[in-house]
Amino acid sequence: MSDILDIGDFIANHVQNQAVQVALTKRSQAMRGSPCIQCGFACLVQWGRANSGTQRFKCRNCKATFGATTGTPLYRLRNRHLWSKYLDLMNRHIPLRELQHHHGIDLSLPTLHRWRHRFLTVLVSNPAQKLAGMIEADEKFFRTSFKGTRGWKRGARPQDRRARRSGGASQRGLGSEQVPVLTALDRSGGICQTQLPDTKWSSISTEMEPWVEADSLICSDGNGAYARVAKATGCEHMVAKKGGQNAGGLSIGRIDAYHRDVENLINRRCMGVGTRYLMNYFGWARRITQHKPFGGNLLAEILAV
Ligand SMILES: [Zn+2]
Repeated sequence: MSDILDIGDFIANHVQNQAVQVALTKRSQAMRGSPCIQCGFACLVQWGRANSGTQRFKCRNCKATFGATTGTPLYRLRNRHLWSKYLDLMNRHIPLRELQHHHGIDLSLPTLHRWRHRFLTVLVSNPAQKLAGMIEADEKFFRTSFKGTRGWKRGARPQDRRARRSGGASQRGLGSEQVPVLTALDRSGGICQTQLPDTKWSSISTEMEPWVEADSLICSDGNGAYARVAKATGCEHMVAKKGGQNAGGLSIGRIDAYHRDVENLINRRCMGVGTRYLMNYFGWARRITQHKPFGGNLLAEILAV
């Protein structure tokens, strides 16, 4: 029985790897007619083949050479046969050690960590489409974290304190100890999010105004910054009590639920994440919440960068 499963696994892998190869070939073919990524010069010449068999190019002007993964998060990532499998498994959080031992991704922990963040970088940017209709907005706070910083062990601590074991609080307003993240979402599944330098009204409105379509309704917990955003974008602003619901079904329950999911991923499942990776995890949580596909679909998006 297990032999049959192994064969099934083998074939599935093979099919996916064929798809990776096709995507790479397509990308290298598209490079043929496009200008140099470095200098914009329009004449690239063929310059041998990569190990994968895809065409490489050289710029006649600046002498830079390019392959199918240049300029994508896959650049110089090895073990190509595992990319699809890894991306398939990103539809939920699986601890890196489990990926190694139970899912057959036989790579070192630092490599698995690097892969995770290479792939997550494509999920960070906000959608081009603006939020519209009933928009809920709020800030969420995460503890500043230097998790994984080598200085802890090498005698150059990033902060004047002992290393913490794990996890992180998320109460509001503890000054420099907390990192604020601004999130807004609408009822058609759109989610915008960004890390804020501080919680000043001006910081919130600068970030949020470009996300919002005119004539929408912004619901918040009453922070004056959101009234300001509404005014600047030609929207209405309504204050909804946390956990409660106003007449007409106004609430900020969706954003509260989303924040709980993100917090669960970051503080419980990952036991806290380094602040420099915070928005990568927000991008991951957004894609999982939106039920968008991982696997080969995400790979195609990565190669379309
Ligand atoms: Zn060039």
